[in-house]
Amino acid sequence: MLDKFPRVPLAHLPTPLEHLPRLSAELGGPQIYVKRDDCTGLATGGNKTRKLEYSMAAALTEGADTVVTVGAVQSNHVRQTAAAACKLGLKCEVLLEHRVTDPTDNYLNSGNVLLDRIFGANLREYPGGTDFDAEMEKVAEEVRAGGGTPYIIPGGASNEVGALGYVNCAIELLGQIEEQALDVTDIVTATGSAGTQAGLIVGLKAMGSSIPLLGIGVNAPEDEQEEKVFNLACETAEYIGQPGCVAREDVVANCDYVGDGYGVPTDSMNEAVLMLARSEGLLFDPVYSGKALAGMIDLIRNGTLGRDNIVFLHTGGAAALFAYADQLEL
Ligand SMILES: *Cc1c(COP(=O)(O)O)cnc(C)c1O
Repeated sequence: MLDKFPRVPLAHLPTPLEHLPRLSAELGGPQIYVKRDDCTGLATGGNKTRKLEYSMAAALTEGADTVVTVGAVQSNHVRQTAAAACKLGLKCEVLLEHRVTDPTDNYLNSGNVLLDRIFGANLREYPGGTDFDAEMEKVAEEVRAGGGTPYIIPGGASNEVGALGYVNCAIELLGQIEEQALDVTDIVTATGSAGTQAGLIVGLKAMGSSIPLLGIGVNAPEDEQEEKVFNLACETAEYIGQPGCVAREDVVANCDYVGDGYGVPTDSMNEAVLMLARSEGLLFDPVYSGKALAGMIDLIRNGTLGRDNIVFLHTGGAAALFAYADQLEL
């Protein structure tokens, strides 16, 4: 299904699908499995690496020598893009958005942004709410004026090109579910810039699977998030030659666990991060996977996700824990 699209190997694939027996026992409901996309391998891993296999290949196909992208100060996407650019010998121009108010010194200097600096990405800082489509065009123009060839990767690599990485993940996951003879009743993941959920739902539907997928939001309200995922899913389905494979009702988001906003810690995130660390030795992050996990735990406790076997897609992000060192309640 994806053979015709250029792809550059960046990720360690397949990522493992593992059972979490101690967490499952602690919650006393369904058996919980984790799809370890925190282990994609590039610069501490995460979900953007799968997307970048396609985005970076497109950049190389177009003859780019510089990639331009955008993210929050603690963006995992920016960190993985900066590392991929180094690996492929490309320059990396980054527009960093100050989305969090009253950031701590660790937030501004540790975690992902420290790694961006180690990878030598050129970081430019902008206030929250900037029109980044326009600003990225300006940076691309500047690269061209200097004799370079830019390629713009949108935030989170969430367009139909990057989403191919999660179409690919859905195919991989369905193969593992079959191999392990699991009867999976739900798949749960964090959803932000939408490429992960959109790619997954396209992959699941195109493969004829009827396992429901739930995205737990970290940013936007529910209607807006579902609309964003559905639109990208339609574009991605079209792009791979499977138009119409995703129906509007296949796209389900729950945005009840955002708390006060993007990147702002919540008590339930804090509890979830400690629970997974202490029951399974796994690291989740404060902005995305920790809030999604908090959502899944709450939905198991209140019986909404009471069925047999849940797969939680771990999208990574633990590098950001260091940026939140002062805000976690330990
Ligand atoms: C970007 C990111 C997500 C969200 O994925 P989207 O494709 O942007 O929806 C989830 N978890 C982590 C750790 C991320 O970095």
